[in-house]
Amino acid sequence: MSNSVTTPAASLTELASVSAFFSELQKEITAASEASSLAVLVMSLQRSDRIAALLLDEYAEEVKQQFLLRVHPILRSKDKFVFVNENECWFILPQLSSEALSVLAVHRLLNELHIPIKVNDRTIFLTPSIGIACAPMHTQSAFALLRIADTAQKHAHAANLKFLMAATEESNQVIAADLPELLGEVLDANSLVMMYQPKVDLASRRMVSVEALVRWPSDHPQAVPTNILIDVAERTGLIESLTLRVLNNVMRDYCNWKAGGEDILIWVNLSTRLLELEQLPKILQRVLHVWDVPTSAIGLEITESAFIHDIGHSTDLLFELKKLGFHLSIDDFGTGYSSLAYLRRFPIDELKIDCMFVQGMSSSIQDKQIVQSIIDLGHNFGLPVIAEGVETAETLAELEALGCDQVQGYFFARPMTAEQILAWRHDFHSKPAND
Ligand code: C2E
Ligand code: MG
Ligand code: MG
Repeated sequence: MSNSVTTPAASLTELASVSAFFSELQKEITAASEASSLAVLVMSLQRSDRIAALLLDEYAEEVKQQFLLRVHPILRSKDKFVFVNENECWFILPQLSSEALSVLAVHRLLNELHIPIKVNDRTIFLTPSIGIACAPMHTQSAFALLRIADTAQKHAHAANLKFLMAATEESNQVIAADLPELLGEVLDANSLVMMYQPKVDLASRRMVSVEALVRWPSDHPQAVPTNILIDVAERTGLIESLTLRVLNNVMRDYCNWKAGGEDILIWVNLSTRLLELEQLPKILQRVLHVWDVPTSAIGLEITESAFIHDIGHSTDLLFELKKLGFHLSIDDFGTGYSSLAYLRRFPIDELKIDCMFVQGMSSSIQDKQIVQSIIDLGHNFGLPVIAEGVETAETLAELEALGCDQVQGYFFARPMTAEQILAWRHDFHSKPAND
């Protein structure tokens, strides 16, 4: 079975035993510089009893291989893990510049692992829950660190949370349990910030639109990455209020630009949870109406995995939004259930390749092939294809060679404020290379 799985060249290390894990962990803690942190993750997989009973040895190996395929692209070559048993895996993430990075890694792992895996026509939900503990923040002892992470995992599971960072003595870390309250306060104070990142057309080297990305207020005593902000909003039912705040801020910025003679198409991300909301088209329409903004000024980015649940409903919704005049994009394409059938059915305007594949292109032939096939797929359906997460000139050149239409990423610009965008675009368009 394992022969059928190809892992990327630079991959994290699997340790052979629990004792190897302990000695490695103690070694890393001792070797850590003062400026860096280390995180231990205890991940427990709660597969249903029925499925577990079906898991013959042969399946267990295949499940493990598929699990690893999901995990490998996310973690770094210096990260290490051990399988304690079929349902439990421990990770060491050494040399982190801050503890928050462990939460980011956990978030990405959960995003990947919540998509069920298929083994010989069986659909298996892994349902992971993760406990996190960090050295030196929690302790410097390998054994104690693992015990703290293990307790955090048990608390996460009991509280129905996907992950939990262990509380510190001072208990002033951002932990999953505190965030809903903080988010409620930030929404009440209307202090979320909007940033905009340009989408650049490759043939003309012009900024053709921007994507609106929400940010936690930078002057808040706690720092919260956007991924986690959205996840908490989705899980606490605050996503509707968050989206209304985002939309109103976007409308305000659009109107300010418009007043200065600029008509810039703005793409807004729509959370998966919102798609279940029957009144969604009406809510969107109402906000635009209040600001007197035409629907054609707004694009909606919907992540591909949003369509897994109910294809029929998703199709109806997309048609309704399209009829109202919104532009539609499928975000994070390649991470969900990419299917030719739905592409043919959906009234969409562009495909957006997930940054995971874009960033893997230069080191992985598979990722390059995936990017190539998404571009070809889009073009076969008459859709422009945009690549996100373009950070280097090398990736840009590769994408151009593959026929990609637009790009977005740090190579051209990081997300900026509404004011900065205008100045950036002016500079970008006046560069000789872009004439
Ligand atoms: P997304 O829509 O796929 O957005 C792309 C993410 O990649 C953004 O992260 C962006 O800042 C980041 N990015 C852009 N260029 C590069 C690059 O060159 N390298 C790297 N490493 N990253 C790059 P961000 O802003 O943290 O947003 C994360 C996700 O949160 C977004 O993924 C989107 O799904 C969601 N999100 C952001 N803003 C909103 C919002 O207002 N509403 C909703 N519902 N979701 C949002
Ligand atoms: Mg997006
Ligand atoms: Mg994306």
